[in-house]
Amino acid sequence: MQRFTEDSGAYEHWLALNQDQYVINAERSLNPDNLMLHRASCHTINGTPARGTTWVGSYVKVVGTRTELEHEHPTARACRHCL
Ligand SMILES: [Zn+2]
Repeated sequence: MQRFTEDSGAYEHWLALNQDQYVINAERSLNPDNLMLHRASCHTINGTPARGTTWVGSYVKVVGTRTELEHEHPTARACRHCL
């Protein structure tokens, strides 16, 4: 498991190499009430960011296998687009 909090480029590089893994999109505080689990291939977390010019900042990305992410963040909700 890995966390991207500052470097959008590093996150995009990870995504490109790990499209079969999973990503939790979280507030910087890791607020357990606002965690969303995605497949790394989900269109909502790929391509051009919807808000602003960077993928990480006010939101952070926790990445890894689905099993380890669900174990670490059991309150994460599944994205309705990709899961
Ligand atoms: Zn998704």
